[in-house]
Amino acid sequence: MSSLITDLLRQTGGTAVIDGGLATELERHGADLNDPLWSAKCLFSFPHLIRQVHLDYLENGADIIITASYQATIQGFKAKGYSDEESEALLRSSVEIAREAREVYYKNCAGCRSGDGDDDGRILKQRPILVAASVGSYGAYLADGSEYSGDYGDAITVETLKDFHRRRVQILADSGADLLAFETVPNKLEAEAYAQLLEEEDIKIPAWFSFNSKDGVNVVSGDSLMECGSIAESCNKVVAVGINCTPPRFIHGLIVLLKKVTTKPIVIYPNSGETYDADLKEWVQNTGVTDEDFISYVNKWCELGASLVGGCCRTTPDTIRKIYRTLSSSQSI
Ligand SMILES: [Zn+2]
Repeated sequence: MSSLITDLLRQTGGTAVIDGGLATELERHGADLNDPLWSAKCLFSFPHLIRQVHLDYLENGADIIITASYQATIQGFKAKGYSDEESEALLRSSVEIAREAREVYYKNCAGCRSGDGDDDGRILKQRPILVAASVGSYGAYLADGSEYSGDYGDAITVETLKDFHRRRVQILADSGADLLAFETVPNKLEAEAYAQLLEEEDIKIPAWFSFNSKDGVNVVSGDSLMECGSIAESCNKVVAVGINCTPPRFIHGLIVLLKKVTTKPIVIYPNSGETYDADLKEWVQNTGVTDEDFISYVNKWCELGASLVGGCCRTTPDTIRKIYRTLSSSQSI
């Protein structure tokens, strides 16, 4: 199981590219995501847009695409009136859509005549591509901002969280995805729940755990990142551990902390550094870093030990193209 990411990294020269923001790209294509289901709303409203955004990322150099299931939960779909079967089918469709995008991409690569893998500005290069099924936190389902506070209250236990995630994790693990991406993990409790679930359910595909931070030291709940990273380190089914949806300026210090507790590949996909207004449920424009500033960090992150790099909210195919170029040029030196 541990070979999935190490095999990929061997084939890509030591570093691989993850895709960028999905929801913000869907909005740019005209989707209205003002809904507790957020990007998961598109699974039934605009599946073609999701496929197009996945394809855009592949054509801009992503080796790993993350499905639109971050906020897709059986509980959330049922609240919208879907049956159990329909909810499970919607979850599976998030993986099918990503796999379809990969097929279209491979066909386009086969038809590419230029030979250098670059056609009409698109990167068309036959390479291993992984589909990572996104699992958002319990806080993402609540859609009340608690994924950015990590505060679930005293009533929520490891058992509650395992029960909440169990069926979704089983379905996504059986859906044809290559790995599970547990993203924006806001606290230690949820990391423990995921680790126990992977073992108890004997999940057959590997996973990565990716935490978020708003102070550059701890995860957003205030729990120690090193303790959270240790949980990932001790779970055999976890093949990479890292940070997402966190401002780029904090990443350096967080990698240093993670390296103290894990030897697993480090995955880094920050947001654009913009501020999220939880009351308005909007990103505050022009509070982040430019793509150039974002990119200026990338080599440093890799020197420190990151091997999978991409972007989270508000990053675009352009950001990913620049990461791809930066990593390709540093590999050829
Ligand atoms: Zn994000």
